[in-house]
Amino acid sequence: MKKPIIAANWKMNKTVSETEEFIKKLSAKDIPEHIEAVVCPPFIGLKDAVKLKQGTAIKVGAQNMHFEEHGAYTGEVSPVMLSDLQVDYVILGHSERRQLFGETDEVINKKVHAAFKYGLYPILCVGETLEQMEAGDTEVLIQKQLELGLAWLSANQVADMVIAYEPVWAIGTGKSSNPELANQTIKQIRKYIQDIYDTSTAKSVRIQYGGSVKPENIKDYLKQSDIDGALVGGASLQVESFYKLLV
Ligand code: PEP
Repeated sequence: MKKPIIAANWKMNKTVSETEEFIKKLSAKDIPEHIEAVVCPPFIGLKDAVKLKQGTAIKVGAQNMHFEEHGAYTGEVSPVMLSDLQVDYVILGHSERRQLFGETDEVINKKVHAAFKYGLYPILCVGETLEQMEAGDTEVLIQKQLELGLAWLSANQVADMVIAYEPVWAIGTGKSSNPELANQTIKQIRKYIQDIYDTSTAKSVRIQYGGSVKPENIKDYLKQSDIDGALVGGASLQVESFYKLLV
């Protein structure tokens, strides 16, 4: 049985001490067994987050990484480094990485392969902008992001990873997507994976919705047939609010 996965994407928020405080408070709570809870702090908080969550059900993820193992890439963090820290997940291709840091589908695909090579589970983000949605391009755009982002991955790898469908217009705007509409797009993603891989891979891969998810609306998403969890920014920054998403 696949577990819904609720992941906290803190973006560039929280110092090391704030991260410690959050993980300590969350560790003291009962994480429901039927949900996988993942916290993704900035790089500097990962080591403490991994240490403090030991013995709990909490998983830790990074928000990005380089695809190379080491070398002259000033300011970057490699998959070897994350693997050494025993990080579980890594968010790849978030729309902020694509829009603000120029990440292409080809670069993201290299990162996805590097994640698997070092035992990290990728959370691959895809999603359309407002202009693309208004032009009726959502389906074609997402298929392209998937075709390039998943290139050369085996069916087993795709079955094990997480895809986050995040309409860019819904991220951090308070304008969450209609849950039925999000489910429709996620169904299309699953159908596409079935077409390029097979039915069992399409059934196994967990596909999250992301975009202004909060305690008041999460149930509307989780009750949809094809939505396997949520990637959450703003509402994941306070322990109480994040915990409400899990229960
Ligand atoms: C995100 O950062 O991926 C996100 C979905 O943010 P928010 O929940 O704030 O819209």
